[in-house]
Amino acid sequence: MLTVEGLRSRYGRIEVLHGIDLQVDSGEIVTVVGANGAGKTTLLKCLSGTQPVSDGRIVFRGDNLGAVPAHARLKRGLAQSPEGRQIFTNLSVEENLRLGAFLYTDDRVDRDMADAFAMFPILKDKRHLPAGGLSGGQQQMLAIARALMGRPSCLLLDEPSMGLAPLLVAQIFEVIGDLKRRDVTVLLVEQNAFGALKIADRGYVMETGRVTMSGPAAELIADPRIREAYLGL
Ligand code: ATP
Repeated sequence: MLTVEGLRSRYGRIEVLHGIDLQVDSGEIVTVVGANGAGKTTLLKCLSGTQPVSDGRIVFRGDNLGAVPAHARLKRGLAQSPEGRQIFTNLSVEENLRLGAFLYTDDRVDRDMADAFAMFPILKDKRHLPAGGLSGGQQQMLAIARALMGRPSCLLLDEPSMGLAPLLVAQIFEVIGDLKRRDVTVLLVEQNAFGALKIADRGYVMETGRVTMSGPAAELIADPRIREAYLGL
């Protein structure tokens, strides 16, 4: 579904992605783990079209995305739930969800909203309240639900567990794991390597702008180098 080949990206003169190769197949949950500053967010920005690519290719469902602007990528089914959530705090929960469906005017929007509320009942209870009043975990749920309202075939998630209490982290990972049943392919970027690898099919480890290891998530969790460097085990 998504293939990244030799991807390079820079901020000014400083290159931060030095040739990333990565693949996500339809129906998979793939995670990219790595320390702060490894380049995970930059990678996702290149995929969503908000960061320039200096070399390499991004192919999504058979099309080279090189010349495709960010808004058109969403139309093609590639949606991002950005780091830091970026929900509209003054708008209600429901208004935030409707914004996620801005591409659509059909009846399915209401069904998608009902689906989102079934997935996250707390959002239904608070649907008319300003999103700024939600807790951190609830805001993260809203960010994921809003991205799903865009009917993506592939969802890019940037650090969804960031800043959440342990119980909520577990809940968020459970929700992401469930996306498989909804036919949504997921590329999950996380510093919480253990949580991410537990729900993922495959994983990539990034260090200073390069992929240093990759493989089935179960193998990565069992690998002594990963256990020591990323899992604190
Ligand atoms: P984090 O978990 O903190 O988001 P990350 O793995 O996502 O880390 P990036 O945010 O992609 O890493 O950053 C990769 C490198 O690029 C880092 O060295 C960072 O300092 C640098 N960087 C990120 N954003 C910018 C920017 N806007 N201008 C200049 N350098 C940047």
